[in-house]
Amino acid sequence: MKVIGLTGGIGSGKSTVSQVLAELGAMVIDADTVGHQAYQPGTETWKDVVAAFGQEVVAADGSIDRKKLGAIVFGEAGALERLNRIVHPRMYDMMAEQIEEYRRQEVKVVVLDAAILIEANWTPLVDEVWLTVASEPIVVQRARERTGLPEEQIRSRIRSQLSNEERMKHSSVVINNDGSLDQLRTKVMELWEGLQHSNN
Ligand code: ATP
Repeated sequence: MKVIGLTGGIGSGKSTVSQVLAELGAMVIDADTVGHQAYQPGTETWKDVVAAFGQEVVAADGSIDRKKLGAIVFGEAGALERLNRIVHPRMYDMMAEQIEEYRRQEVKVVVLDAAILIEANWTPLVDEVWLTVASEPIVVQRARERTGLPEEQIRSRIRSQLSNEERMKHSSVVINNDGSLDQLRTKVMELWEGLQHSNN
């Protein structure tokens, strides 16, 4: 089995690549979904988050109010790091378990789709890192169309994320997505073909 970590900055095409790989037959683990599961009431993460940030982050139905938590972690120095130290290792364990389950099922290709794959230190889970990149004007335009956010906010998001230069140091495959969707699809299909030959 091959485990691919798929990462990329905002608007770079990561979700599109992930979708194509799923269509081709990969099993995709979506880190965002795992993140949501990690916060479920009754979990250790839930308890640790409430212990660290207070009852005020608990919504009326017992779940973590991510908006309130977000306001705290983005408004207080060091709070995001504190939250990440609680949540990221738990997510690592959950994803490792899911990968092992796929291994038992003899799945051939697993894709771990994670925007923060490198930042969160999850790369030990994967055999190779694939990175989607596009030039900044293209990213800004696509992200504007998709999210409706103003250009300045998108640019500040780009600045707050790891640079592509840094991401490339950890990547074995760089998927340039400056072209059309058809070109992207063709590139992903070629990479998929390559995997079929190298698969073990
Ligand atoms: P985010 O982190 O913001 O979710 P992402 O890296 O997952 O971004 P996508 O959602 O795949 O990126 O792509 C962003 C937007 O750009 C989407 O609306 C997608 O359909 C579009 N897009 C992606 N690649 C191309 C392309 N080559 N040509 C035209 N549009 C594209």
